[in-house]
Amino acid sequence: MTHKPGIVVTGASGRMGQMLIRTVIDSGQAHLVAALERPGHGWIGRDLGEAMGGAPLGVTVTDDPLEAFARAQAIIDFTVPAASVEFAQLAAQARAVHVIGTTGFTQDQLDQLKPAARHATIIRAGNMSLGVNLLVQLTRRVAAALDEDFDIEIVEAHHNQKVDAPSGTALMLGQAAAEGRGVNLSDVSDRGRDGITGPRQRGHIGFSAIRGGDIVGEHDVMFAAAGERIILRHVATDRAIFARGALKAALWGQGKPPGEYDMADVLGL
Ligand code: NAP
Repeated sequence: MTHKPGIVVTGASGRMGQMLIRTVIDSGQAHLVAALERPGHGWIGRDLGEAMGGAPLGVTVTDDPLEAFARAQAIIDFTVPAASVEFAQLAAQARAVHVIGTTGFTQDQLDQLKPAARHATIIRAGNMSLGVNLLVQLTRRVAAALDEDFDIEIVEAHHNQKVDAPSGTALMLGQAAAEGRGVNLSDVSDRGRDGITGPRQRGHIGFSAIRGGDIVGEHDVMFAAAGERIILRHVATDRAIFARGALKAALWGQGKPPGEYDMADVLGL
């Protein structure tokens, strides 16, 4: 009998899924009880280790979330918004901690997470790294200290397979900047400038997205005024930082009351 929490990783074949599986196994702090993929995926029914191109792990890849979640204390989920919404309901039924790293949710999808959070602990963050969560705090403080003479621009870069823009991290940073200024992000957000846009509007927060190659994730928060600029930057070079943060969240969530949490809660920031 082990007291280490049992973990299910969803989206097992994905970039983050495979990183999460290695992180959980190597950590010694938790054990992997199941790996989930969607029905019809070529990995279903195969040994996970062999599917990942290595030695057998004795864990068979499954497409049955309910059965898998019933055996787990935590689900670590980096997939797509529609799948994460569905997993949240099943994780709540299983009373398991649901760590959601998925990004690109609509407001409607975020609202659909709320009923699940009445029964289970959900920890969701667009970025699970310590460095970015510190950058969020710094952004809030700098935005609060500067007035609207400083134009705030958030520039992010990611690999060419990323499907959503701006990144979840860019949105976290924009939200922090807006909070620092005491405004609603939705009222001041400038996304996707193109063509004759006219001069920049004072007080707006701009977003730009670069997509190319294998960039893991880079974020600049620029405060640009006449005669000077402050640039806060985070550069991720290894997806392991997100996986370690997600595992930390899964462990932290054990025994916490139901509700919605984020990485600032986990990291005590
Ligand atoms: P990826 O390589 O495309 O992996 C996504 C995985 O989800 C794939 O295995 C995919 O399976 C699976 N999937 C897709 N639809 C599904 C469904 N309906 N049901 C079950 N599984 C499904 O993407 P990634 O780079 O790992 O990123 C995944 C998510 O994590 C993205 O939203 C990304 O922005 C986010 N992310 C967050 C952080 C953070 O720190 N919070 C860090 C990095 C990435 P198929 O191959 O069959 O499609």
